[in-house]
Amino acid sequence: MSCVFCRIRDKEIPATFVHEDEHCLAFRDLNPQAPHHILVVPKKHIVSLNDVGPDDADMLGALLLAAGKIARAEGLADGGWRAVVNTGKDGGQSVFHIHVHVLGGRALGWPPG
Ligand code: 5GP
Ligand code: ZN
Repeated sequence: MSCVFCRIRDKEIPATFVHEDEHCLAFRDLNPQAPHHILVVPKKHIVSLNDVGPDDADMLGALLLAAGKIARAEGLADGGWRAVVNTGKDGGQSVFHIHVHVLGGRALGWPPG
């Protein structure tokens, strides 16, 4: 399995973990795009939002609940923050294991590029 997030899940690649629950793991992004940049990933390998169905509803809910919990723990709730799910080539996805970016700690631009 060459998927980098599966390898992080399996502790084959080191990462700074900030959260774990039944469905997901979260760790700091290697190349942060904001002062706080965390990735929330399901333990199960799923490529993208193009590949989910009704059976994934609990996992998808867990990803967003974890994102909110992490943002609060990072002190981002009052100032605001962003959850991003890049999907596919034009969506800017570079790791094909679904993930939610949690970004905050500065005023984020909009619209995205
Ligand atoms: P995407 O471009 O797919 O939406 O986001 C992938 C993210 O994974 C990027 O922000 C990138 O910096 C991060 N990333 C890629 N490889 C690693 C790694 O080995 N460790 C960590 N912590 N983050 C990674
Ligand atoms: Zn994977």
